[in-house]
Amino acid sequence: MSSLIKEREHQVFTKGRDDYKISAEKVSAAGSVSQRACVFCGSRVVLYPIADALHLVHGPIGCAAYTWDIRGALSSGPELHRKSFSTDLREEDVIFGGEKKLYRSLKRLIPKYNPNAVFVYSTCIVGIIGDDVEAVCSKVAAEEGISVIPVHSEGFKGTKKDGYRAACKALMRLIKTGSTIPRNKGSKPVINILGEFNLAGESWIIKKYYKKMGIEVGAILTGDGRVEQIRQAANAELNIVQCSGSLKYLAKDMKEEWGIPFKQVSFFGIEDTASALYTVAESFPDNPEIMEKTKSLVQSELSKAYPILENYRKDLTGKKAAVYVGGAFKAFSMLRSLKFLGVSVVLMGSQTGSAEEYEEMKEMADPGTVIVDDSNPSELSAFIQQLGVDLFVGGVKERPMAFKLGIAFCDHNHERKIALAGFEGMLNFAKEIHNSLTSRVWQTIDEARESDPWKI
Ligand code: SF4
Repeated sequence: MSSLIKEREHQVFTKGRDDYKISAEKVSAAGSVSQRACVFCGSRVVLYPIADALHLVHGPIGCAAYTWDIRGALSSGPELHRKSFSTDLREEDVIFGGEKKLYRSLKRLIPKYNPNAVFVYSTCIVGIIGDDVEAVCSKVAAEEGISVIPVHSEGFKGTKKDGYRAACKALMRLIKTGSTIPRNKGSKPVINILGEFNLAGESWIIKKYYKKMGIEVGAILTGDGRVEQIRQAANAELNIVQCSGSLKYLAKDMKEEWGIPFKQVSFFGIEDTASALYTVAESFPDNPEIMEKTKSLVQSELSKAYPILENYRKDLTGKKAAVYVGGAFKAFSMLRSLKFLGVSVVLMGSQTGSAEEYEEMKEMADPGTVIVDDSNPSELSAFIQQLGVDLFVGGVKERPMAFKLGIAFCDHNHERKIALAGFEGMLNFAKEIHNSLTSRVWQTIDEARESDPWKI
């Protein structure tokens, strides 16, 4: 492809034609307008849903504006997370340092909003001028008697994945402030759900399933998150990890620190949702009642979902899709869900997939499928046209591309307003892509293109 940057050659792979290991987890190539966000944004999206914490962006106002209300993460109570606080660093602060401004901001905001904890995000300029954010946070924490946790997320210092890592370190610090609380000895096994952000209320759907199975969800990190629940996360018997790219680091750290095992799951698609529920049930073999309840829950949900999905499948069979999402693990679920609906995936990729995940993606993909790592609009648009894609499944940065190319689109990223997780999420997903693919607007666009007097 002519628009491919030379340095990216091994980050693009066509199944059946190429024979190499996809090169992943690299910094974005110069000149490639990557679809990835910065390190700071990676941290912000992970911690944002903690609704009773104050999130203060230490940097110029642009960083805070860029990430303001960045996720459709719902809260069942406080909504402090939806505010975007910033120290608004300016030229003078860059010359003389921003520590005093950070201190004054915290001293003003904490009494005013009474948060249960504070996260202070370092942005690019803070890394450049060298503010001692740790020292300011410690001083304010001692004076105000609450956790003030620095998030070392200077935008330039790596990829979005480094932002996830910084967020996980901040979460670990918060959990450690509560790890002396005795382990839960209740009758029900307790699990945490990591990498689930309650977009459009998805955490509530998932929590409902586990409740029916007789499992208690201790903490969700970070969907509908509360500081006190996260502090008690070390009391759980099992961590399940939904978004592998972001919270697997925390799962590994918690295993190392407290011996809590973790399992990777996905709640996207009916097969993966059923498997996520069975995975947890199998983890408690001493409690056979959990497995019985799980079987009955899955059977009941499938018997409701199958006939409806079958109807959608009639219209969708034969369509071609492109999937470009944040983490590769989610792309696997998309592939299975779309195949189930009769849609073939001809282009797939992610912003932050690992080399191992891309090997798995290669196995799952059909011959001819193009797989891309850390792609850019130029590549994605060219492949979409070349492969005759009908539907693009992506996020906010992929949406304008789909609209400009005149193809159907499904938002499967953090701004979505429709719950796509769980069995009901699969029904919503099928309805969403059906509505988009069968919309009359595409016919109108085709007609307009045909009658365009300037057409070359
Ligand atoms: S942290 Fe840096 S890269 Fe990220 S939004 Fe701020 S200035 Fe931009």
